[in-house]
Amino acid sequence: MSSIGFIGLGNMGLPMAKNLVAAGHHVTGFDLSQAALTELAAAGGHVAQTAGQAVAAAEVVVSMLPAGRHVETVYSGDDGVLATAPAGALLIDSSTIDVDTARRVAAAAQAAAFDMVDAPVSGGVGGAAAGSLTFMVGGSAEAFAKAKPILEIMGKNIFHAGGNGNGQVAKICNNMLLGISMIGTCEAFMLGEKLGLDAQTLFDISATASGQCWSMTSYCPAPGPVPTAPSNNEYKAGFAAAMMLKDLQLAQEASGSADCQTPMGLRATELYQQMAEKGQEDLDFSGIIQMLKGAF
Ligand code: NAD
Repeated sequence: MSSIGFIGLGNMGLPMAKNLVAAGHHVTGFDLSQAALTELAAAGGHVAQTAGQAVAAAEVVVSMLPAGRHVETVYSGDDGVLATAPAGALLIDSSTIDVDTARRVAAAAQAAAFDMVDAPVSGGVGGAAAGSLTFMVGGSAEAFAKAKPILEIMGKNIFHAGGNGNGQVAKICNNMLLGISMIGTCEAFMLGEKLGLDAQTLFDISATASGQCWSMTSYCPAPGPVPTAPSNNEYKAGFAAAMMLKDLQLAQEASGSADCQTPMGLRATELYQQMAEKGQEDLDFSGIIQMLKGAF
């Protein structure tokens, strides 16, 4: 069993840390929120009052933070992970952050002789609680091999995506495609309805034809065809539009620095930005069909 320092006990981090505790690891958590620390302690974890204290005896460090600037803060500085973790500790950042920051922090970790991987997830809060997340991992083969048994406690599918930052690349490319395909699916079902084709019939045809995609078959934005989809539950998230917007913005940032044209990704970003400006960012991302229909 390992001694694990866990930093960032929010909607995702807390259930992930609890799964590590339940698997018998000695988990010491740190978060700016005292309430999160209290919950971890109630689940059998240990708590620290600084990031440095949380990782001081750690063999493995896991972080699950909102954005790149939080990751940079937590890993750098006198009380940061790189200054305080014991030599040889394995560092795993599971936050979804920009590729440049992920690569910069990993390079600083390497310069300080730590193995580090970026390991962003998909699967949401439900997947975090169930220990069924998908991890997309960037780092050396050796670091991936060391991280895998820990990630397997929190997830089901663990992919090695290549060198440092490639976990983040996989995540934003997948989610950019998802955002685009969701809007396309919304448009198809709206147009079908306007022209007198009911949603179930379009679904039955398209689900076995060339328009088939996950946004339709598993998450249909038109109510009816997929009973478990948020469209049948007032578009309650699910995967909030705010999270989709964040990932699309990261993809746009990366497109810019890689000098890669992603016009559909840009348009999807603009539409989810509009949804946020209309105050609907807490709705599921499939709820964008309501905005396209003019409901808000
Ligand atoms: P969250 O806001 O619920 O949790 C983040 C936690 O980090 C908070 O508890 C906050 O207090 C803490 N924190 C911030 N700065 C800190 C610091 N300097 N030191 C210690 N703690 C600090 O966010 P979340 O939903 O848990 O998401 C975490 C990451 O996972 C994000 O990058 C998000 O994009 C990604 N993600 C989230 C989901 C989801 O469905 N929520 C799905 C996939 C990926």
